[in-house]
Amino acid sequence: MSVEVNKDECIGCCACVSSCPFGAIVMEDGKAVITDACTVCGACVDTCPVGAITQTVEKKEITINKDDYKGVWVYIEQSAGKARNVGYELLNEGRKLADGMKQDLAAIIIGDHVDHLTKEAIARGANKVYLVEGPEFKHYSTDAYTITLTDLINTYKPAVILMGATTDGRDLGPRVACRVTTGLTADCTDLAIDEATGLVAWTRPAFGGNIMATILCPDHRPQMGTIRPNVFKRAEPDFSLTGEVIKVASKVKTEDIRTKLIDIIRVCTASCNLEEAEIIVSGGRGMCKPENFALIEELANVLGGAVGSSRAAVDAGWMPALHQVGQTGKTVGPKVYFACGISGAIQHVAGMSSSDIVVAINKDPDATIFTIANYGIVGDVMEVIPALIEELKKIKIAG
Ligand SMILES: Cc1cc2nc3c(=O)[nH]c(=O)nc-3n(C[C@H](O)[C@H](O)[C@H](O)COP(=O)(O)OP(=O)(O)OC[C@H]3O[C@@H](n4cnc5c(N)ncnc54)[C@H](O)[C@@H]3O)c2cc1C
Repeated sequence: MSVEVNKDECIGCCACVSSCPFGAIVMEDGKAVITDACTVCGACVDTCPVGAITQTVEKKEITINKDDYKGVWVYIEQSAGKARNVGYELLNEGRKLADGMKQDLAAIIIGDHVDHLTKEAIARGANKVYLVEGPEFKHYSTDAYTITLTDLINTYKPAVILMGATTDGRDLGPRVACRVTTGLTADCTDLAIDEATGLVAWTRPAFGGNIMATILCPDHRPQMGTIRPNVFKRAEPDFSLTGEVIKVASKVKTEDIRTKLIDIIRVCTASCNLEEAEIIVSGGRGMCKPENFALIEELANVLGGAVGSSRAAVDAGWMPALHQVGQTGKTVGPKVYFACGISGAIQHVAGMSSSDIVVAINKDPDATIFTIANYGIVGDVMEVIPALIEELKKIKIAG
């Protein structure tokens, strides 16, 4: 791609100079000149009032030998040396894909002092682990992690890469896919092998969740996707399994990292860490007003759980969107899920149906939520929740 100025047409108005976010345009002899700092972003093209700047996109024919790409990889996201559950969920599903494709399953672990995670990755099904360690990976850094994962792919050429659709995964996945010139299916809710082609069939909601689309990546490698946490279950680790650990040296140089971490401010406390929570207490429109969510928070607090919400409560402005459970919110899989004043719409259930136990509180005995609940309490949330809190507090005090 390139951006060029037609000197004959340039009127020297300087509009492009201020429009360039990278300061890459200078004026010479009354004409705009593009310097080496140009990133070809194209911001100047629309600004030029006389159309003297053009952007050309050269279509490169990408030829790869797809047979060179083998194996299913799972990126094990970690923070402070603790792996996020989604990596292990994907190892379990990745194992099935790898077996179906008759290929190896590998875990990718990048971090600072994270070699203790290799044992568990193998115990959860990986045949091998690619491990890259260094102080530059102490905290997630877009540049350091992108460079490293790109390098691993270019060197070892996997056929498939699964990553969690987490904040970091959603940042890292598309960047790496772009660098290795492949596609990425984001935010998947299901995976399978397409019988006709043997390719991974990535399923994800599309058009605001109104349809489910299944996407194939036939021409490029690796086939990449991010998958929502809690869509798949983790397998129990089997520490008798063995595997190979391949230590790869980091190629990240200090000057490669363009950002500086100044401070970490945790806005999300345990109450909104829904994806890792073992107990979730969710409230819906049946909580009637925002103040009543204090009861949801209190119950979650007594149980040491997180706070969830239906979309109706989010849309009403009663709860922030990061608490929303469902098709267009978070997919959760706690041991116990309390649905308080939630009707059980299909889009809500899509995000919590893998919970081990569902407890529903609703004043309507015919509410749909009771059809999937293990325990149902027919009653007013304003009476049932305080009674539950009181009893649980007594149990806590009694030890
Ligand atoms: C494309 C699309 C995507 C969507 N994505 C999501 C999503 O991600 N998550 C989601 O939640 N929804 C989603 N929705 C919306 C979904 O269809 C429902 O509208 C929503 O889940 C309803 O929320 P609710 O159960 O809180 O409210 P309602 O359906 O209004 O149910 C309220 C319930 O509270 C009960 N109730 C009322 N008062 C009391 C009381 N005092 N005590 C006890 N019970 C009481 C009522 O009997 C009722 O069952 C989506 C919809 C679409 C079209």
